[in-house]
Amino acid sequence: MANRYSFEFFPPKTEVGRAKLKDTRSQLAALNPEFFSVTYGAGGSTRDNTRDIVLETKQAGLSVAPHLSFGGDEESEILTLLNDYKTAGIDRIVALRGDIPSGMGATRQVYAKELVEFIRKHTGDHFQLEVAAYPETHPDAKNHQADINFLKAKLDAGANSAITQYFFNADAYFYFLEDCEKAGIDKPIYPGIMPITNFANLARFSRNCGAEIPRWLAQKLDGYGDDQASIIEFGAEFVSELCHILMEGGAPGIHFYSMNQVEPIKRIAEAVMSSHPAK
Ligand code: FAD
Repeated sequence: MANRYSFEFFPPKTEVGRAKLKDTRSQLAALNPEFFSVTYGAGGSTRDNTRDIVLETKQAGLSVAPHLSFGGDEESEILTLLNDYKTAGIDRIVALRGDIPSGMGATRQVYAKELVEFIRKHTGDHFQLEVAAYPETHPDAKNHQADINFLKAKLDAGANSAITQYFFNADAYFYFLEDCEKAGIDKPIYPGIMPITNFANLARFSRNCGAEIPRWLAQKLDGYGDDQASIIEFGAEFVSELCHILMEGGAPGIHFYSMNQVEPIKRIAEAVMSSHPAK
């Protein structure tokens, strides 16, 4: 589907967080996204929380995609979750390797491709499967091309489309699309978009996941110091423009990392959806 929009949540740990998420969800639902997705802590650290939020979102009449990864779990635990989701009428999953938190004792991380194969083997074509893609290369990858080859392998294993790690360089996405096409990938790759709200957190998170904050942008954001209002204002303008450039350049839609906040994602999404309506 062209011009597909989706929003990602993480499962809150507290009652206050859950109440806030409900409010965020209902405000973002007014924009009619294709689906919401809910992250998963590899190794089962958020299993119940993720499932609860997913089922509640479904019961609220919304389309929802749980994220899922094996972590160190047994096949039976993953099968139980898949069956719960299927029974609840959920028909989309974001299939990942995940990053198991240190100290959780898993000996081997199960690659996303293996999870895609497992889901297809046990549930056939029931689920629409999304996988992750990395325009700026996954930090563990041997190199850029190897990472693209592994992306192709998980799409060939039966995933329907991919959602990218966030990035702030539009060129990284467009060159990546070209390289994917050269590698024979013909499935849609949706850019994942992160709002800018807190520079210190964003910088730390970006170092861990291998997303680059261009020097000029880092310097500008750092220059605002404690002036949160200016960071949010500039961030919303910059990210809206990034979305616009991506859609003008042929992106098939956008997946927004909402961070469970209505703003600034609603403002950014409204801006891009008004010039590139969902189809
Ligand atoms: P894979 O596709 O399995 O790849 C992992 C790494 O291994 C890559 O470097 C790849 O090049 C390499 N590789 C793949 N196959 C092989 C192979 N056969 N041999 C050698 N190397 C190989 N994390 C969470 O914990 N929970 C979430 O809910 C979550 N949601 C995400 C949503 C999106 C859209 C994205 C982009 C990321 C998300 N992540 C999440 C982060 C993700 O789990 C991490 O980036 C993780 O390190 C890799 O997961 P993957 O599914 O991309 O792994």
